[in-house]
Amino acid sequence: MGHMKIIRHMKDRRSANGMLSAAWRRSLSKSLLAWFKLSARDLPWRRTRDLYAIWISEIMLQQTQVATVVPYFERFVRRFPDVESLAAADEHEVLKLWEGLGYYRRARQLHAAAQQIAGEHGGQFPTSIDAVRSLPGIGRYTAGAILSIGLDQRLPILEANTIRVLSRLAAYRGDVNSGAGRQRLWDIAESILPKSDCGAFNQGLMELGSEICTPRSPACNTCPVVALCAAHRKDLVARIPGPTKSKNYQQVTEIAVVIRRGGNVLLRQCQRGERWAGLSKVCSGGQVERPCRSADRRQRARFGRPERGVGESAGHDETWSHPISDYPPRVRSGSCLTARPNREPWR
Ligand code: SF4
Repeated sequence: MGHMKIIRHMKDRRSANGMLSAAWRRSLSKSLLAWFKLSARDLPWRRTRDLYAIWISEIMLQQTQVATVVPYFERFVRRFPDVESLAAADEHEVLKLWEGLGYYRRARQLHAAAQQIAGEHGGQFPTSIDAVRSLPGIGRYTAGAILSIGLDQRLPILEANTIRVLSRLAAYRGDVNSGAGRQRLWDIAESILPKSDCGAFNQGLMELGSEICTPRSPACNTCPVVALCAAHRKDLVARIPGPTKSKNYQQVTEIAVVIRRGGNVLLRQCQRGERWAGLSKVCSGGQVERPCRSADRRQRARFGRPERGVGESAGHDETWSHPISDYPPRVRSGSCLTARPNREPWR
């Protein structure tokens, strides 16, 4: 009964410019903050207000799940406990600690940003939004997250979870990836910020999106803000966020040759300017237009015929893929080459 009363009370109460009303916003922050206080997961980066540690966690959490990030975060801040130690590190060591997290550009930018902070801010993580946004790899979301969580600055955030939560709360049916859709959601994110506790409020929104307001089966029956949710009231939850334009992935086909000798595999370190710069990979014969036959021809032209008995499709004909980058690799293994003793076929 009380629940129904709240729903009626909040129904369609919007201000003239279409933004959500003051009473709605007060109720949202009160309910969300109370829920977050009770339900927040205990995560290592939530036990500190250190801007450096929050920054590391925010960069690692981009495109990566919380459970995956926890051990990486702990290892990383143990080895590099502050800006100075990260700035002084060798890039190869930074990439090594990042190995397995994917999107390695994040690690390189983190390292470059630490060097910028050491050079321009005496090693102290900056506290103004403009200075933070001028660092490599930091956009509006990351800057807002670091400064609101660490210092309670009144800054909005917008990332995958909050995009979903806000578009449902406001029953926004436009394309959330379009310029207009993003602007609308940033405006909402800004307009609903409470006067204080912005760090907890922003984290509460993200937590709600991660734990309750999930993409496919949101748990509306246990949602702390169900009474304020326009999508729920209009029975539109399953249709929001609406369809978005799918991303155009670039198709690139490369020959990769695994060269073994005894129990060893020949690896080379990718140089600056290459796609996987700083990382190690098996030898590559470059890009080809057609994956199979031309790859085999070029492989032979460069490396000679595969050794008899090992040759093409040596029992490894399989395809797999993993979404770790803008070039999600699809690997088809088929041919392999084994170095004969005292002969180096890669020359
Ligand atoms: S009521 Fe459902 S759709 Fe609305 S915010 Fe809560 S979980 Fe999300």
